[in-house]
Amino acid sequence: MSDLNTIFDLAIIGAGINGAGIARDASGRGLSVAVLDGGDIGGATSSASTKLIHGGLRYLEYYAFGLVRKALAEREVLLDIAPHITWPQPFVLPHAPGMRPEWLLRLGTLLYDNLARRQVMPGSERIDLRRERAGRALSSEYRNAFRYWDGWVDDARLVVENLKDARARGALVLPRTPVTRAERVDGLWQLTLGEGRTLRARRLINAAGPWAEDVARRVMGLNDAPPLRLVQGSHIVTRRVHLGRDAFMLQQPDGRIIFIIPYERDYSLIGTTEGDVQRPEDAKVSDAEVSYLLAAANRYLARPLSHDDVVHRFVGVRPLILETGKGDKETTRDYRLVDHAGLDAMTVVGGKITTYRVLAEDVLARIAPRSKGWTGSAPLPGGAIDRHRGEHGQTAFKRWLEQLQRREANYDPKLIKRLAMTIGAPTEGLLAGGLGRNLGGVFEAELDYFRDQEWATSGADVLWRRTKLGLHLDAAAQGEVARWFGEDAAAATEIPAGHRFARPGIA
Ligand SMILES: Cc1cc2nc3c(=O)[nH]c(=O)nc-3n(C[C@H](O)[C@H](O)[C@H](O)COP(=O)(O)OP(=O)(O)OC[C@H]3O[C@@H](n4cnc5c(N)ncnc54)[C@H](O)[C@@H]3O)c2cc1C
Repeated sequence: MSDLNTIFDLAIIGAGINGAGIARDASGRGLSVAVLDGGDIGGATSSASTKLIHGGLRYLEYYAFGLVRKALAEREVLLDIAPHITWPQPFVLPHAPGMRPEWLLRLGTLLYDNLARRQVMPGSERIDLRRERAGRALSSEYRNAFRYWDGWVDDARLVVENLKDARARGALVLPRTPVTRAERVDGLWQLTLGEGRTLRARRLINAAGPWAEDVARRVMGLNDAPPLRLVQGSHIVTRRVHLGRDAFMLQQPDGRIIFIIPYERDYSLIGTTEGDVQRPEDAKVSDAEVSYLLAAANRYLARPLSHDDVVHRFVGVRPLILETGKGDKETTRDYRLVDHAGLDAMTVVGGKITTYRVLAEDVLARIAPRSKGWTGSAPLPGGAIDRHRGEHGQTAFKRWLEQLQRREANYDPKLIKRLAMTIGAPTEGLLAGGLGRNLGGVFEAELDYFRDQEWATSGADVLWRRTKLGLHLDAAAQGEVARWFGEDAAAATEIPAGHRFARPGIA
């Protein structure tokens, strides 16, 4: 592994999914890479998304066929390389009188089925809600619906997985290391990090997400970064309203769409809202947004939700590329790569979790044009399980998990499943070594693993990003986790838990 005295081929500001994906791809092509984040890895937008690997059915309305096709094809790839943290997710889209006509929904879902090749993703179908389990969660006035499929991903873990692989291929990963200045010195980029440390690199990539414009202007001193429009999106987590696996895609009278998605076994995830913010750190889930989301869900639910059913909330900020004359919904969700001419520097903005790997390939095609893409067929570390020839990752993972549960019969199969669907392949080693003391639903060996292998340094890192145990553990157990990291037990209950958007620690 490289240290700070190395002259890196590539330095990346920002360890969200885009920075992490570029770091992995570049390291695998033999470049020496340093990736720095002012906060926890994946601590900003990339842990606050709706967690869908999707083409975006609704973007078809804006004729964004290219974007949708690119994202749809990528669903199969991500389900294959990260089978432990992804799965195909069915969505029920009820037809509601007075909203988009039924023929349009059918046309949209058919187009969605056929824009890209499908291997594990089933096709869409028209369903009768009176005969379906999902229908029982909805008010009886909704009778007809369409079921279509997208993917689900644990976004924060996808970041960790990419960085673990980057590190295994030689990259230096430095979380909690804000870059306060980046300047050209003797033909190299010199980055000033906290505590007077510096780092040098031949090339610089600004992947600072919603801070990208600010980093380009203030940290790198450039004036050709694309102007960004920052749009906050909030989610709430409620008691579970689902009766089965189906998620709901619900049309609203204002033309917007909200999702209700089965979440963490016992809960439902509802989102999102959209509203402009000036700075990323101004984003905060407002009570008005919670009321909006509850009303949007209750428009359809048989058993309405109330404010008392909300157990958690979080907000993220989309950096949308400013396009004059376009509203939130029409503004492109695609990414843009901006070359800072003659400076060996690039700013990466926009995009989706879904397309992070393609974005990284596009970046590498520009900066290392003679090297070849490799990440589409190489499993991420947690997905590196034995596969039969030609077997899809999803099938292999199910088989591997069942075998592991049979082999490790001394452990509760549910615990094995939880660990396997968190860290994947390394679960075998963790179980073989013994899990240590149970701190009330989380084991010491897990905390060791998150600290030693996954850069966790606080209770919040573990409870809300490496896992979502913050939703499941009681206050005493959360306090134990905080104490284990040397924090005051109260820190666990004071954790902002995503109510506010994290600030990456720069002035
Ligand atoms: C509400 C919402 C829902 C979404 N849902 C989906 C979805 O369902 N599916 C999907 O595919 N996409 C979704 N997206 C889009 C997706 O989340 C983003 O495109 C993606 O997370 C952006 O990743 P990023 O790496 O560019 O940014 P980020 O994850 O924000 O990473 C940028 C990083 O840069 C760091 N940083 C900033 N300044 C500095 C500095 N000076 N020094 C060091 N580090 C710095 C920050 O700390 C941060 O960690 C959603 C977005 C939002 C907001």
